[in-house]
Order: sequence, then C-alpha cells, then structure tokens
Amino acid sequence: MDRTIIYNLVNSVAIGEKETLKYPIPEVNEIDINLSQFRRNFNIIRNLVKPNVKFMAVLKGDAYGHGLIPIAYELEKCKCDILGVVRLVEAFTLREAGIKMPINLLAPIVPSQAPWVVKYNITPMIDKEEIIDALEKASTEADKIINIHIKINTGLNRYGIQPEEAVDFIRRVHELYSHINIEAIYTHFQDPDFNPKFTKMQIKCFDEVINKLKKENLMPKIAHAAGSTGILMYPESHYDMVRCGIILFGLEHKSGEKNLPEGVKPLITLKGRIMKLGLIKAGEAGGYGDKFIAKKDTPVAIIGLGYADGVTREWKEVLIAGKRVSVINYFMDSMIVDISDLKEAVMEFDEVVIIGSQGAESISWQEACKHIGSYVDEQIQRITERVPRHYFYE
Ligand SMILES: *Cc1c(COP(=O)(O)O)cnc(C)c1O
Repeated sequence: MDRTIIYNLVNSVAIGEKETLKYPIPEVNEIDINLSQFRRNFNIIRNLVKPNVKFMAVLKGDAYGHGLIPIAYELEKCKCDILGVVRLVEAFTLREAGIKMPINLLAPIVPSQAPWVVKYNITPMIDKEEIIDALEKASTEADKIINIHIKINTGLNRYGIQPEEAVDFIRRVHELYSHINIEAIYTHFQDPDFNPKFTKMQIKCFDEVINKLKKENLMPKIAHAAGSTGILMYPESHYDMVRCGIILFGLEHKSGEKNLPEGVKPLITLKGRIMKLGLIKAGEAGGYGDKFIAKKDTPVAIIGLGYADGVTREWKEVLIAGKRVSVINYFMDSMIVDISDLKEAVMEFDEVVIIGSQGAESISWQEACKHIGSYVDEQIQRITERVPRHYFYE
C-alpha cells in the first residue's frame, strides 16, 4: 500500500483514512511512523494473551509519542477492546476524533471532571468515595449508569485503596450508589522487570482480594493487573484483561535488555537533512564557545535539527550515507557533525537518520537514550510538534 498520511498540530491535519490532507507543508525534518509494523506488533502481542482476555491498548503520553489519534484509528481496525489514557483531555480528544471504543482513565480525576466523564462515556479509575459521589450526581442527572474500575494498591504506593479496604469499599458502592457499576478491580506492579519476588507477592495479594470479593459475592466482572512486562513475563497476571503500552510500539519495557517477542519492532524513523557542508580549519571553533575546537581541518555537515526539535545536547551519533558520524556541537535548531571519516560522497539536503536505519546501520532509541541517560518513552515524547509526523503503510 503506497499511502502517506501527515499529522501534526502545526499542519493540523490528516488522520487515517478519515480526513484529507489540508496543509501538506514540506519540512526539513520528519518522523516516519510505520503503521504496518504497528499492526504486526499488535497482532503478535495480542496472540500472547488468550482470546477471551480483553486487550487494552494504553495510549497515554500521545501514544508514547507516536500520535494519539492515528494510533487509535489503527487500533479500531485491530482486535483491541479498550483504549487506556491518563488525562481526561486525552480521552476527550479521542471522542472528538470519533472513537467509539471504550476508553479508560488510568489515573484519578478531580470532582469537577465527573460530568464530562459521564457525558463522554469514559470509564474512570476510582480510589475514593468523593469521586463516586460526584459521578453518582452527574450520572443521575444524565440518567445513565457509569462504569468504574477500582484500583487496589498492592505495593506501588501511588494510587489505589488498600487491599484490606476492598470488600467494605465495594459493598458500600453497591449499597449507596444506584448509577455506578463497578466493572473491574485492578492493580499495578511496582518493579516487575527486576523484582519477580515482589511482583509474585503483589499477584498473591491481588488474588486474595479477588477471593474475598468472590466469597462475598461482590467480585466485579473483570480483574486486571498486567502492563507490558506482565504480559511477557507473568502469564498468571493476565486475569480478564491486560493493559499494554510500550511494547506495542516495539520498544523495550526493560531498559538495557532485549526481550521483545520475535517480529516486534519500533515504528519510528526520525530523519533530518544536511543543510550545509563545510570545513572547520585547524584551531577554529565549531559552534558557540570552546566546546569544539578543530585539531585538524575538519569537514563537517550542519544538520537542521536541534534541541527545539527534541533532540538533546547529549546526542552522540547520527547516520549519514549509512554510516555513523559523531555530533560535535549542538544548537537549538541544528547540530554539527564531523564527517572527516566518511568515504561516501554526501551532498547538501541529503537525508540524515537520527533514530532508525539507514543502509545497514541503525541507531535505536534504546541506544540513544543510554548515551543521554534518559528513558525511551520519556525521550520520544520530547520530539516537538514542529517535526511533522508522516504515517505510512508499507
Ligand atoms: C502506563 C500504564 C500501563 C502500560 O504500561 P506499559 O509498561 O507501557 O505497558 C498499564 N497500566 C497503568 C496503570 C499504566 O499507568
């Protein structure tokens, strides 16, 4: 399929098959996002959990930097049951884009958001009665029943009610609120990548809550616990639903290690261009200050991409003509790379790959983030909106 879709806020356009491109302004830099690969990742990961286990795709943080709406449109065509986001504005954006799938919020709301949650049919996470009060009021006014998911804290100590409170809390909700349906209880792991012992203890704790609720006839339809690591490493934590985030995008859940399923790959290529070729004479500076002073005559390329595009000052290498070259200085809108070792002929406006493959070489987010001491999911989200996203199918 030969189709390119551009989407970003500056160009304010073009999503999936549903809209046409209004302003396809050419840019110097771009992010290419391979939706065919996304589909392959989804199918591989979906098949790791039983067909009767529901699948929530977690799209918080602008779908881990991949673009909330285009990714959601793709998921509408996959065997995905639910979308998970964190902010009401993310859920609202999805509804405004015409997404009809169930949407869950994975973090608490404030009381003033309750009417909007009801209006847009969003399923909130709950860990306090004050919010249920607000939801009951809003859903009574709207004459609707609203689903909620109650979070149980089994050790992360972020959100959630305590395990020993669960039975009483859920009984109270049943008894006092007629417009609230507890669809699920869930928990979240504290360190599943590196602490299996504690994770197993969390699973045991959650199991005990489930058993107590069953005994009291209070168990909701669904229990869920697993994120990416749970999906891959703890099949016993799949329960009735999984919540899959980072690995859908072909990114490692466990920093510094490679253990993605066969065939699951990243979707993103971040590309810039050589805007100028030049020579820095021995003894002269390359860029501001004395960060780089040439020891010998040094042929360089100026890349039109800098930290205002989201590529930080610590960036180490980029690919030109399929070879790794070193970044020697940085600006807000550009960087200088040393091309003295490059045997290949290069020209101005040639493509430069910052993340992804070029020829036989490739630079992964994983590798780049190791150099800059950051996390992959954090770094991708730093790529700013002035870098247009080009979505394509192979
Ligand atoms: C972010 C998040 C997930 C997804 O986590 P990944 O490790 O990216 O799969 C699942 N559940 C909750 C509560 C989250 O906040």
